[in-house]
Amino acid sequence: MNDRNAPPLLAVVMPCYNEEAILPHTLGVTTSFLRKGIEDGVIDETSYVLCIDDGSHDRTWEIIRQSSTATPHIRGIKLSRNCGHQNALLAGLKEAFDAQAVVSIDADLQDDIKVIRTMLSAWREGNDVVCGARNNRASDTAFKRGTAGLFYRLMHTMGVDIIPNHADFRLLDRRALDALLRYSERNLFLRGMVPLIGFPSTTVHYARQSRMAGESKYPLRRMIALAIEGITSFSVTPLRFIAFTGVIISVFSAIAILYTICDRLNGHVVRGWASITIAIFFMGGVQMLSLGVIGEYIGKIYLETKRRPRFHIEETTNAQ
Ligand code: UDP
Ligand code: MG
Repeated sequence: MNDRNAPPLLAVVMPCYNEEAILPHTLGVTTSFLRKGIEDGVIDETSYVLCIDDGSHDRTWEIIRQSSTATPHIRGIKLSRNCGHQNALLAGLKEAFDAQAVVSIDADLQDDIKVIRTMLSAWREGNDVVCGARNNRASDTAFKRGTAGLFYRLMHTMGVDIIPNHADFRLLDRRALDALLRYSERNLFLRGMVPLIGFPSTTVHYARQSRMAGESKYPLRRMIALAIEGITSFSVTPLRFIAFTGVIISVFSAIAILYTICDRLNGHVVRGWASITIAIFFMGGVQMLSLGVIGEYIGKIYLETKRRPRFHIEETTNAQ
């Protein structure tokens, strides 16, 4: 068990992908935050920030390496290629094996770093998991707000337990982290996996800022990919929905067939060209969509069965 009364060895895990524009600022803010925490006796003096360079093409790794030589509070690992945010995060969580509590945060500091103090207090009160949820989405575009709202509603309807407006800003203590690392799935959706651990957890709310520099690494394409990953890794409802639609369409088809036969018996011969064409297109569409959904699940099985390593560490700096 952790000694929650002693100052914890805190690791702030930060995935970075092409973040040269903001990283020097972020590292400055984070190290002063750590120093202040150490001075106030809130965290242990060996606490650190662990940057994971997720195969960046810019000067991100150079910045991490240089900063790490200047202060022992900065550690870095460099992944051999871009493995995606979730995998980079996982690499960091694994690498922070000496920490008593680990907080994951984005490199753009859109999440308020000072909230980590609140998270630590919540941890001291006995929570193994403390999730940060933003209390507004004012910094997002109307489109992102709308699609995110739709996504959370969809997940909720399908019975997946995820906290609304919580991204990957959260504290996990040693016990929760060890439990999380036992999940070996390749299709990672960490915010869906964390509630499965089941240890005492709570949520703290904060206001999320706009990105100060650099641009979002989550364009629409990647957001849709993450949403599909989240849905298909955690729910088989879409498959059931397909079966249900199949039944409804079959019933309607049976009625249509009966109607056609009666019509034919009544002597009408060449009528109905339009309705047949519409029916063919409609069925074609439904079938393609259904096959797509099933294919998505089969693809998941395929990727899981290969059990490929999720990342490779190419270089480390200051790491233990
Ligand atoms: N990120 C990463 N690998 C990727 C994409 C993003 O490590 O392939 C990192 C990125 O550097 C940032 C975090 O994930 O620290 C969140 O990305 P971003 O801020 O661009 O997402 P948004 O806040 O726009 O959803
Ligand atoms: Mg961001």
